[in-house]
Amino acid sequence: MTQQLDLFVIGGGSGGVRAARIAAGHGAKVALAEEYRYGGTCVIRGCVPKKLLVLASRLADEIGRAPDFGWTIGEPRFDWAALRAAKDRELARLEGLYREGLQRAGVRTIDSRATLEGPHTVRIAATGEKVNARRVLIATGGTPVRPDIPGAHLAITSNEIFDLSELPRRAVIEGGGYIAVEFACLLQRLGVRVTLVYRGGLILRRFDDDLRRHLDEAMRASGIDIRTGEAVASIARHGGVLRVALKSGASLDTDLVLAATGRRPNVAGLGLETAGVELDAGGAIRVQSDSRTSAPGIWAVGDVTDRIALTPVAIREGHAFADTVFGRDPWVCDHRDVPSAVFSTPEIGTVGLTEAQAREAYDCVDIYRSTFRPTANTLSSRPERMLMKIVVDRDSDRVLGVHLCGPDAAEMIQLVGIAVKMGATKRQFDQTVAVHPTAAEELVTMRSPAG
Ligand code: NDP
Repeated sequence: MTQQLDLFVIGGGSGGVRAARIAAGHGAKVALAEEYRYGGTCVIRGCVPKKLLVLASRLADEIGRAPDFGWTIGEPRFDWAALRAAKDRELARLEGLYREGLQRAGVRTIDSRATLEGPHTVRIAATGEKVNARRVLIATGGTPVRPDIPGAHLAITSNEIFDLSELPRRAVIEGGGYIAVEFACLLQRLGVRVTLVYRGGLILRRFDDDLRRHLDEAMRASGIDIRTGEAVASIARHGGVLRVALKSGASLDTDLVLAATGRRPNVAGLGLETAGVELDAGGAIRVQSDSRTSAPGIWAVGDVTDRIALTPVAIREGHAFADTVFGRDPWVCDHRDVPSAVFSTPEIGTVGLTEAQAREAYDCVDIYRSTFRPTANTLSSRPERMLMKIVVDRDSDRVLGVHLCGPDAAEMIQLVGIAVKMGATKRQFDQTVAVHPTAAEELVTMRSPAG
């Protein structure tokens, strides 16, 4: 047994890195173990590379629109290998920053898997070293799940999609959540013929229904073949083609199958049982609001706790843990009114209650809704419209939710999220002078409730 640490962090993703750096800043002696690459899902095979691909894909729209604005552009050609290489350089840069940030803060970084051997003992797999720590933070994130069907191994997940040697001509994507919808839109724009297979009736369950319908229509209009009430029954290889059998009996020939059917907490083989860390029914580490697990001395943050599986939430949970346990000002991460975005095209920004949730919880709900063509589409013949919706409690006039679908919705929702978090009323929205000409001005100029 070597060393006595104040904190051992297992997992070098967003939550773990933030917690380690802040704890070290409070004077704690900290080590962090990461078995793969620093930055975790978000930086290495999630938000960051995905956003780069989204930006690349949207250039197809810009190039298509350019002649309407007077530009003449030659025959465009897309080079996947060039984009992949540029993306890899950016990820390497970011990973380096994460590692440097930890080292600058005085955190010992260990490039190895680490497992619990008791409440205060961590074993480093690469060396066999056992480390004693007064506290342990588990921040091991999540991992994609594939449906249990014949040929499931022939499907890839979001872990593999960023490093394809070449783009397929056709793709079948299963799922109707964030990842399915984002990759359907970006792959279609990069020239892949996409079929989206979703078991439900309408994509993005749990989002506001108007948003779901608006995005569904826009995706279909962009050429994506969306099959709802449908599921993949099996996948088989026939020569160079993948044959996908659907539950309805239909069959699709394709070059790639992406299983975007959810993620599960990364807990396997961590030794949680030896330390007395309990899991919930879904296999996530059960935590209290301050991220304390059932085992004294052990905390957990981020996707492994399956509260809200978003990077900024994991970062806050990690920060709150470090401030609370090692600093002087305890606080807990507030999971209410968390703004979020889906980087589909058109993109979604959403915060607060959906119309359905508001009608459940409040007696009288007013809905303000507007759809319009963003300026960028007016000179061109593009029909896409932007949707904006505000959900208001009529009695208090408080804005309960804002839901946007269209260009820059993610940027807008970050700012509207402040107003919603502050408990702003619809009247206060109305008192705000519009910025003209913008799409966002619609948020402060909608006057008549639609329902
Ligand atoms: P989601 O939970 O968002 O979606 C999973 C989808 O798969 C759902 O449509 C679900 O259907 C469907 N599904 C689940 N199990 C099966 C099955 N056995 N057979 C067929 N379909 C199935 O997960 P994702 O994988 O898309 O993303 C994981 C999480 O990562 C997200 O929830 C989000 O928190 C985070 N994320 C955030 C992003 C962002 O902020 N922009 C981007 C990407 C991911 P049903 O609706 O019926 O349950």
